[in-house]
Amino acid sequence: MACKCCQCGSCCSHMRIVHATIEERGNYTFIVHNAYNGDVKEVRVDPDKIALFEDRSSIEELPDACPFLRFDEKTGKALCTVHLTRPDLCREYCCWRLLILDPRGKRAGRVMYQTTFLPDDDELSRLWERVQPTLNGLCGTEWDGAVIDVLTRAGYRVRR
Ligand code: SF4
Ligand code: SF4
Repeated sequence: MACKCCQCGSCCSHMRIVHATIEERGNYTFIVHNAYNGDVKEVRVDPDKIALFEDRSSIEELPDACPFLRFDEKTGKALCTVHLTRPDLCREYCCWRLLILDPRGKRAGRVMYQTTFLPDDDELSRLWERVQPTLNGLCGTEWDGAVIDVLTRAGYRVRR
């Protein structure tokens, strides 16, 4: 199953509590402890992201952000400054199969894994409460098709 990422940074913006830097080894190398699974991992800032890593201004207002998260000031996209050596938890993370955008193009929700529906706002939550019972017994492409049909008719756009 394809997992996709639009680099919104939402996931990494709440990972400070998970990824604790327990040692600095110099030369932009750090030992990171994962509070979820106890893993200890050495990460190193990617050579082409050192200047970006040094500039913390893009995460100043995100006190819970992973210490390695930064945002590109031109595109607004999130970047992992240790992408090449990032922890396994980050490599394995599966964000969305279907991305739901409201009529203005703003993210309204996501479908993760097979059928995990995650609305971002109350309007889509209420729609989902009405739709969910009608999907019983559907799976795979049938489920996707039914969901996309309902969302499209309600004015949303769905990206795969
Ligand atoms: S994995 Fe998902 S939440 Fe994280 S940056 Fe990508 S789209 Fe955003
Ligand atoms: S190490 Fe990179 S991918 Fe993992 S949470 Fe931090 S910024 Fe995100």
